[in-house]
Amino acid sequence: MPAELISGTAIAATIRDEVTADVAALVARGVTPGLTVVLVGDDAASAVYVGAKEKASKAAGMAGETLRLPASTTQAELLAVVDRLNNDPLVHGILVQMPLPRQIDADVVIRHIRPDKDVDGFHPVNVGKLLIGHTDGFVSCTPGGVVELLVRSGVETRGAEAVIVGRSNIVGKPMAALLVQARVGADATVTVCHSRTRDLTMHTRRADILIVAAGRAEMISGDMIKPGAVVIDVGMNRVADTTKPGGARLCGDVHFPSASQVASKITPVPGGVGPMTIAMLLRNTVRAAERFAASRT
Ligand code: NAP
Repeated sequence: MPAELISGTAIAATIRDEVTADVAALVARGVTPGLTVVLVGDDAASAVYVGAKEKASKAAGMAGETLRLPASTTQAELLAVVDRLNNDPLVHGILVQMPLPRQIDADVVIRHIRPDKDVDGFHPVNVGKLLIGHTDGFVSCTPGGVVELLVRSGVETRGAEAVIVGRSNIVGKPMAALLVQARVGADATVTVCHSRTRDLTMHTRRADILIVAAGRAEMISGDMIKPGAVVIDVGMNRVADTTKPGGARLCGDVHFPSASQVASKITPVPGGVGPMTIAMLLRNTVRAAERFAASRT
């Protein structure tokens, strides 16, 4: 029987409705959540992502602003912009879009953002809080979104074998930290695989929950999946396809046609994890604004 689809589009829409209600409640208390996105340079893909974030924050009733800086911006100039945003009481969330031009060290910039405005959840303070299990930090948006997909689809993570393919700082590692937590929606037994993993299939076939974030188009096929597993495909790859307009199509890291014959539940690409990332960014921004409002009373 083909797998049930986990629709990130539908779940993200629900979260965005919840966020819109939370924003209205904050506005009634005199605080309009403010998200400022900083885009340096003219990378086409980044411009698309930033446009989507700005549109979504405005749709939720937030005070969204995008600062577009030239590709020649120096590190000192960008840090000065971050300083200004750090000190602006109307800005509750700051997001500096990656990648940055070569002359700028992304780690220095991330460390410069106030942790309580770091709605991307990349600051070492927030990463540390996630690892320890403190809930007053910010969880990075993509792994946070994956947990929401699991919880809202009724997937039992407690005691489950969760296997993650990929160990990046933005997806794989925080994903592992989230799933191993002894709190609601977690308590999984976690394995993290990467390019040096000796026998990848041996691990993926053990997974009750398989999360793939490797950036390799359709690398996980149905024969690498345990029958009945839940499969979350974080991958977002553009591959050549002469049958499509523009000569390319989007696909995940999972080979959907074969995987969906074996899995019990699966996310599509597009329409799976992708929409969750922006929804979680909005939720983090509302949390930042709520904490700001609470600190004034
Ligand atoms: P990344 O930084 O390139 O990390 C990829 C990870 O996969 C690395 O840890 C790498 O191992 C591992 N890997 C690569 N090839 C492998 C293989 N053959 N077997 C096992 N492991 C392998 O990528 P990322 O930033 O985490 O992103 C991963 C994918 O998710 C990309 O397609 C990206 O576009 C997508 N993504 C989507 C969203 C969204 O909102 N939907 C957000 C973020 C990322 P090593 O560490 O050993 O190199």
